[in-house]
Amino acid sequence: MIRVVVTGACGRMGREVLKTVWQAEDMVLVGAVDVRGEGQDVGPLWGASEVGVTLQGDLEKVLAETRPDVMVDFTTPDVVAENIKTALRRGVRPVVGTTGMSSRELEEIRALAEGLGLGCVIAPNFAIGAVLMMRFAAEAARYLPHVEIIELHHDQKLDAPSGTAIKTAEVVAAARGDFLQGLPTEVEKIPGARGGSFDGGIRIHSVRLPGLVAHQEVIFGGLGQTLSIRHDSISRESFMPGVLLAIRRVMHLEGVVYGLENLLFE
Ligand code: NAD
Repeated sequence: MIRVVVTGACGRMGREVLKTVWQAEDMVLVGAVDVRGEGQDVGPLWGASEVGVTLQGDLEKVLAETRPDVMVDFTTPDVVAENIKTALRRGVRPVVGTTGMSSRELEEIRALAEGLGLGCVIAPNFAIGAVLMMRFAAEAARYLPHVEIIELHHDQKLDAPSGTAIKTAEVVAAARGDFLQGLPTEVEKIPGARGGSFDGGIRIHSVRLPGLVAHQEVIFGGLGQTLSIRHDSISRESFMPGVLLAIRRVMHLEGVVYGLENLLFE
């Protein structure tokens, strides 16, 4: 049995993870951490009756008391790196979905995990369909190098663009090689109208509206044709098979694996 603690347990993703871990036959939910709801039983967070696991605010204390194998983190960009380091220093393997970490934080975590010989999975998107979208986009970019990315999320999302959009731009840039797109003389009449510009001029546009969950369209343009590759997470259940896979696989890893594709396509 894999002993799991969930951080960010009261959040939209945290609740879904609590329920998923609770229902998994090879896992035990041993702790739940959030800065909200201290002392409450977590069962009602996913519509169940009380399950005997209560929300606590102090991660360090929860890790010491419950001795988990894995910490699953869906918190916020400002606290996630510290949570990961706290877990690693206690010998606990992090599975992380929180986006918005800086590359410097990521490097520090890589060094710490490697030094301690502990596995850690960080994935900007745990939905299998989103991982396939990125793979297909990288393939298309070899033949249709003109590309723009539109990502659409609910209006409570803290970071923009999404981690998935950045990752998509990275794989597209790597696949199409040295390439500069766009009209250098174009003028933005409203700043930001053309979106954020990634390496080589890949534009990323972020839409935020209530009603959305997590969506992305990658549009390629060529002579007389366009190709659109679109993924829609229409509910947060879409991320759960990926999270379960990561919890199971992190037990046998050493160092940081960044991106679910590295667990899916080996
Ligand atoms: P949310 O705001 O609903 O939840 C975040 C939770 O973290 C809140 O309950 C908050 O109280 C809690 N929190 C804040 N600071 C904390 C701390 N120090 N310790 C413990 N808990 C703390 O956000 P959400 O929609 O659930 O998203 C969470 C993160 O997951 C975001 O970064 C989002 O971009 C990311 N996300 C990733 C994926 C993926 O597949 N990787 C999918 C969806 C969302």
